[in-house]
Amino acid sequence: MTRRINPRKAKIHQSYTVEEAALLFGRSIPTVRSWIKKGLPIMRGQIPHLILGAELREYLDKTQRSSKRPLAPNQLYCLKCRKPQAPYGGLVDYVPISAKRGRLEGLCPTCEGICNRFASRRQLPQFAEIFDLTIRPHKSA
Ligand SMILES: [Zn+2]
Repeated sequence: MTRRINPRKAKIHQSYTVEEAALLFGRSIPTVRSWIKKGLPIMRGQIPHLILGAELREYLDKTQRSSKRPLAPNQLYCLKCRKPQAPYGGLVDYVPISAKRGRLEGLCPTCEGICNRFASRRQLPQFAEIFDLTIRPHKSA
């Protein structure tokens, strides 16, 4: 499990060496180097390379936002585990909410709780290929 980073620890008007940045966020030096490889800008004019606090903050902000775990087509989201899970046995129910939209429900293989995701009726043929899908009738109110 990786702990979340607080990008605000980086002071905007300060610059950091790789070592300092690693220390600041409690990460290893190779981790910070990997950020640089993935696009964190550094000032290349000097040795040691310096990372601007503002850049560091922006980079971490951006990557943390984008790491909001998109679901793979064969996954539902388990609220208890707080992560995507492939439902137990691939068994999934489609529970209609309206004529067009509904929820896919399955059992979490880890905690045996309910995992789900929203789906539109149009997506059902796709999901039927991935899951063992049962479509529940729409209870109209
Ligand atoms: Zn779970």
